[in-house]
Amino acid sequence: MQTSFILQAAEAINQAILSSESVLESLDREIGDGDHFINMKRGAATIVALREELAPLPADAALQKIGMKLLSTVGGASGVLMGSFFIAMAKTIKDNSGNDMTAIAAAFQSGVTSIQARGKAGVGEKTMLDVLIPVATTFVVQANAERNFLLQALKQEAERGVLATRDMIATKGRAASLGERAIGHIDPGAKSCQIIISAVCDLVRSET
Ligand code: ADP
Ligand code: MG
Repeated sequence: MQTSFILQAAEAINQAILSSESVLESLDREIGDGDHFINMKRGAATIVALREELAPLPADAALQKIGMKLLSTVGGASGVLMGSFFIAMAKTIKDNSGNDMTAIAAAFQSGVTSIQARGKAGVGEKTMLDVLIPVATTFVVQANAERNFLLQALKQEAERGVLATRDMIATKGRAASLGERAIGHIDPGAKSCQIIISAVCDLVRSET
């Protein structure tokens, strides 16, 4: 992974989050406390603002710096979870110097595993992991598939995961206190992860 790609991805993610204000706001108002858009916006802006500091660093050090900064600046469950994602990703990239899709998929999966460990959650609990876990599995399995096929598969898996949260009862996070009242509402963290995955896939597609 190249640091220049991380910077481009940060820009694409920032734009995608900003254009999803109304959907993210309303989802967290329905089953959370309404701050999810603000948290994601702050996270994306924080990464974009680090641009000058990140540019000269190797990818693993850039990811590590992003993770540490997210832990210290972004509130809510999502700040801690996203921070741990980047820190774990940094470690795998460092241990595994390859720059091919297999190495990137392995790094993505270790980021997701770290969120699972930190959040003590898995598939079916109505969280961001309902998008991240199946996307990580698809990424690892299909890493060497034809590029556009892979990108399409990742986007589709993210969309399937986000829609699946609609019919779930939450067992983690704020929505857990709602019991059956959470049914019928999409999880905000799952939605923002799907938006981010889609934006990064579109960026990669436009580059190749
Ligand atoms: P908070 O819930 O602290 O207000 P946010 O609104 O920013 O933080 O983020 C809420 C999102 O965090 C949820 O929609 C869910 O996807 C995710 N989340 C909450 N708890 C967990 C957990 N234990 N594991 C994984 N994801 C979680
Ligand atoms: Mg919230």
